[in-house]
Amino acid sequence: MDARLSDPLATPAAVPGALVEVRRCRQAYHKESNADLVVLDDVDLTLRAGEIVGLLGRSGSGKSTLLRIVSGLLRPTSGEVLWEGQPIRGPAPGVAMVFQSFALFPWLTVQANVELGLEAKGVARAEREKRAEEAIDLIGLGGYENAYPKELSGGMRQRVGLARALVVHPDLLLMDEPFSALDVLTAENLRTDLIELWSEGRLPVKAVLIVTHNIEESVLMCDRILVFSSNPGRVAHELAVPFPHPRNRHDPAFRAFVDRIY
Ligand code: ADP
Ligand code: MG
Repeated sequence: MDARLSDPLATPAAVPGALVEVRRCRQAYHKESNADLVVLDDVDLTLRAGEIVGLLGRSGSGKSTLLRIVSGLLRPTSGEVLWEGQPIRGPAPGVAMVFQSFALFPWLTVQANVELGLEAKGVARAEREKRAEEAIDLIGLGGYENAYPKELSGGMRQRVGLARALVVHPDLLLMDEPFSALDVLTAENLRTDLIELWSEGRLPVKAVLIVTHNIEESVLMCDRILVFSSNPGRVAHELAVPFPHPRNRHDPAFRAFVDRIY
C-alpha cells in the first residue's frame, strides 16, 4: 500500500522522473477583519518532463497562488514543493513565468527586457546579447530588438514576455493566462507558434504549466488538464488528452492517421 495513504505524516517519496511535485499544499491568506481565507487545501500536483499541463478553474480559485508556490516565490502555509526530488526553500532556479499583463519594463527596449532574464543570473554581457537575440528570433520578433514595448502590438508584447522567460532555458515554463489580454486571432497565432516550437523540440523548456480559461485552448495545447474547484482550491478532475493529440493536427503523420479513419 502507498505509504502516503497509510501514514499522513510521512514525507512522501519522490515520484520517479518527476520534475516538480507539490505535496499536500495548503495556503491560507491572513485577513484583518475576517477569518483567514483558505485558498488552497491539500493540493497535490506532479509535473513530468516532456508534458504540457493545463490548469482550469474559476477566478479566485487559487490558480495564481499555486503557480507562485510551484515557483517558490510563495512559501505555502503547509505542505512542500519538491524539484527533482529536493524540497525547495526559496525561488526555484529552474522556473520562468509569463504573465497575463506581459509585465514588461516600458523604458527598456525589447532586447533589454529580454536580457533582464539573464542579468539576475550573472551572465556576462556578450553572452547575454547572444542568447537574448536567439530567444527573440525563436519567438518571431527578429528585427524588433531596439523597439520599445509601446511601439508593439499586444501579441508582440507577449512574445517579448515569452522571450524573456525562454532566454534562461527554464526547466519549467509557467504561464498565467498568457493569452487572456489578446484578441482571439492574435491569441491563436501565438498559441499555434508555441505548439509548433514545442512539437519540433525547439522550445528550450522541459515542461509547461499553463493557466487558462479556455477549454478548447487547453485541449489543443495540453497533454493533461487539471480542473480546479473553488473554496478552497483543489484539483477536482484530471483529464488526459488522448492520442492522436490535436496539437499535432498539422503534422502529416496525424493527417494520415485521420485519413485512415474517415
Ligand atoms: P486565481 O488565480 O485562480 O484567480 P488567486 O490565486 O489569484 O486566484 O487568488 C485566490 C484568492 O486568494 C482570491 O480570493 C484572492 O483575493 C486571494 N488572494 C490572492 N493573493 C492574496 C494575497 N497576497 N493576500 C490576500 N489574499 C490573496
Ligand atoms: Mg490568477
